[in-house]
Amino acid sequence: MADNESLAARGERAEQIKRKPELYKVCEGCESIVVAEAATCPNCHGYRFDISTARVREQADILGKRLPTSVPPSELM
Ligand SMILES: [Zn+2]
Repeated sequence: MADNESLAARGERAEQIKRKPELYKVCEGCESIVVAEAATCPNCHGYRFDISTARVREQADILGKRLPTSVPPSELM
């Protein structure tokens, strides 16, 4: 799934999220960013979310900078 995403793609997505944080929310269970209309988290099936735009922006920043944990070394440039 998201594991094969390049860091550049993640950064780009983080920018998109930060431009429209009101369309997203942060899962309280696993801290992933999900779309606002999602009823449960696709990752952990949690149903508790933080909908504050400040929290979404903060989480997008973290997500955009963090390297994917399972990326093969050949993708690290
Ligand atoms: Zn979750």
